Amino acid sequence: MAITVDAHTQVYTGNNVLLPGSQVPQPATVLVSAKTGKIIEVHAERLVRTNFPEIADDHWLEVDDDKYLLPGLVDAHVHLNEPGRTDWEGFWTGTRAAASGGVTTVVDMPLNSIPPTTSVDNLEVKRHAARSQCWTDVAFWGGVIPGNQGELIKLVDAGVKGFKCFMIESGVEEFPCVSESDLRPAMDALKDTGSVLLFHAEVDNHSAPLNLEDPTRYSTFLNSRPEAFEVDAISRIADLQREYPTLRCHIVHLSAASALPTIRGAKAAGHKLTVETCFHYLCLASGTIPDGRPEFKCCPPIRDNANREALWAALLDGTIDCVVSDHSPCVAELKKLDDGDIMGAWGGISTLGLGLSLLWTEARKRNVPIGTILQWTSQKTASHADLADRKGKIAAGYDADLIIWDPDAEYIVTKGSLRFKNKLTPYEGLVLSGRVDRTFLRGNLIYKGFFDKFEGLEPSGVLLGL
Ligand SMILES: [Zn+2]
Repeated sequence: MAITVDAHTQVYTGNNVLLPGSQVPQPATVLVSAKTGKIIEVHAERLVRTNFPEIADDHWLEVDDDKYLLPGLVDAHVHLNEPGRTDWEGFWTGTRAAASGGVTTVVDMPLNSIPPTTSVDNLEVKRHAARSQCWTDVAFWGGVIPGNQGELIKLVDAGVKGFKCFMIESGVEEFPCVSESDLRPAMDALKDTGSVLLFHAEVDNHSAPLNLEDPTRYSTFLNSRPEAFEVDAISRIADLQREYPTLRCHIVHLSAASALPTIRGAKAAGHKLTVETCFHYLCLASGTIPDGRPEFKCCPPIRDNANREALWAALLDGTIDCVVSDHSPCVAELKKLDDGDIMGAWGGISTLGLGLSLLWTEARKRNVPIGTILQWTSQKTASHADLADRKGKIAAGYDADLIIWDPDAEYIVTKGSLRFKNKLTPYEGLVLSGRVDRTFLRGNLIYKGFFDKFEGLEPSGVLLGL
C-alpha cells in the first residue's frame, strides 16, 4: 500500500494498536498531520523506520511491544466547578488529572460552578474562565432548571452538547430540581433539536420517615437512597419518552440494577434512551465500605456486590451504554472526614486520572478485553456527547487523541499520585493494574508519564462546540 508522508507527518507505530471494531490490539501505524492534529491514515502494519528518512526523529514514535496505543478517553461526566467553587476543582487541575489517566476530552457538567450553565451568558462566563487552562479538550453540558426553557435553543446554538436535569434536590441551591410540569416545556423546546436530555434519575418517594439513626454508618446512607428512588424515576422518564419520542433521553450514573428491566423494556420499545454507569459502581461494593468514611459517599449510592455484578452483565449485554467518572470533588471540610458524618458530607467521588486503571483492574479478572473497555469509555461516550465525528476512535479524519498504555504496570494509589485538587478519594491504598505512559491531544504530548508528568509541557486543550 502506498504510504504518503511529508515533513509535517507524525508516525505512531507498534505491534499493539487498538483499531475501531477490534477487541484486541494489532500491528498498525497511525499517520498524523502535525499541522491539523488529525489522523491522516491508518495502516494495518508496523512500519520500518529506515524506510522513511524524510520523517524527523521527533515525529517518529515507536510503541514498545509491551505497551498498547489506544484512543484517548472521553469522560462525559465531570464536575470542574470553575468559576465559583474553584477551591473544589478547576479547569487546570481537573484537566491535568484527566490527562494523567488518558482522558483527552472531558464534558463538564452544568452545576457546582457558579454560575451554573443554565443560560448563554453563564456559558460564556464559564468559557472565559476555562481559556488557556485546559490540558484536555473540554465540552459543556447545559442545564435544565425550572423556568429556563427560553434559554435552551440558544444554548444549543451556542454549542452545548445536551442538557442535565435533576429529579431530586441537586445539593446546590442555584441548580434546583425539576418536576414534570417543568420538564414538559423543556422537552417541547428540545424535541426537534437533536440534542439530548440527561437525567439525574432519583425521586424521593419516601412515604414514611426512615430510620436514619447513626449518620456515620454507610448502611444509614444506603437506606436513605434506596433503589426504588432510581426505579421510580426511570419509570417516569420512560413514560415521558412516550410523549416525546424524538428526544433522546439519557440516564446519568445508574446505580440500581433493579431499574435494568425498565431500561431494557424502554429500549426494546424503541425509545431513544441511553444509560451510563460509573467506575465506582463497577469497582466498589457496599459490603467492603467502612463506616465513618465519607469519601465513599455519592448519589445514588454504591450498592451491594450482587448489584455490581448485575451492572457488569448489563454493560456486557448492551443495556448500559457507557462508563464515566462523575468526578465530583469538594473541599475537605465538606467531606466531614474528621467526624465521619456520611449523612452530612458532600456526596461525590473523585476519580479523574484513575478510571482506566480501575476498570482494567476489574476487567482483567473478568476476561473483558481492552477493546470493550475503550468502547465504553471512549467511542460510546463520544457518541453520547455528540463528538462521534472527531473523538473516540483511531481512524482517518479523527483527532489524534492517543494514549500509550502499559497494561502490566502496577501501582498503589497514594495522595501523591493524584493530580486533582483535593486529594480525597475512596481509592487511596488500592493496587491498580495498568497505567498511562503518555497522553497525546491532537498530536501534542500533554502528559509524559508517572515520573515526569507535565514537565516542560503546555496546555493545548480547546473548548469544543464554539
Ligand atoms: Zn455528576
